[in-house]
Amino acid sequence: MKVHAILTGTVAIRPNQLQGKGVGLARLVNTLVDRRWTEPLPIYAWVLEHPEGIILIDTGESAQVTSPGYFPAWNPFFKNAIFHVQPEQEVGAQLHALGIHPNDVRRVILTHLHFDHVGGLNHFPHSEILVVRQAYQQAAGFMGPALGFLPQHWPSWFAPRLIDLAPQPFGGFPSSFKVTTAGDVMIVPTPGHTDFHVSVVLQDLDVCYFFAGDASYSERLMKQQKIDGLALNGKEAEKTLKRIRDFTPSTACVYLPTHDPESANRLATKTVVAFDSRNVG
Ligand SMILES: [Zn+2]
Repeated sequence: MKVHAILTGTVAIRPNQLQGKGVGLARLVNTLVDRRWTEPLPIYAWVLEHPEGIILIDTGESAQVTSPGYFPAWNPFFKNAIFHVQPEQEVGAQLHALGIHPNDVRRVILTHLHFDHVGGLNHFPHSEILVVRQAYQQAAGFMGPALGFLPQHWPSWFAPRLIDLAPQPFGGFPSSFKVTTAGDVMIVPTPGHTDFHVSVVLQDLDVCYFFAGDASYSERLMKQQKIDGLALNGKEAEKTLKRIRDFTPSTACVYLPTHDPESANRLATKTVVAFDSRNVG
């Protein structure tokens, strides 16, 4: 199966967001007061040319993100990122370049509703969009903008198919949702970064792919079991990283976080997660 990485621009963040420093509230404060920047990190979306129809995982960032007034000024966390997104980098244009019309995307799966994962939604009015029910309710609710969601920028037609994970364990994850009839594309819960964050597992013939969203910002941080500096629920984030650490090497998975500069290389070379002695402990 063909799997494509689509780079929809970059974002620089605070090093203390990339790798959380301290516990509890201190972790958030350390992110807020950090004055340094990381290198520009990628913002990926992923396309699966699945026999049951094309699947898009997340939609990346919108070029609108740098327009004045895009972010509510009262939330200081929105000032902690520097975006670079050109209109031709948006997912719609890049699908065209791959010879895929956005209308031919059958399903869009959203790992979570942070703005840099839903920025390209406007290209997919004709696709079925899968969102975890509680994730949608939280993001659309009163606290949404305080938690990093911007429902005011969702397309007016946005009415996703709200899904509930079934209490069917999958590879160490306590619940799951089968996306395809073949059962080769599964959604698994990976809460922590956001309360209802999910990841997507594709089992292809020779290799497995783990589309991690922001469950960790990189493979290195997953191996080191380091949660990020803005994770809404630190305890859950730690549990999630343990489950991923156990699952991915045992199933020969290529691990693909949204913001890992090495994700596209690993996809191209089908480099699966492997632990050596330096990663243990
Ligand atoms: Zn996020």
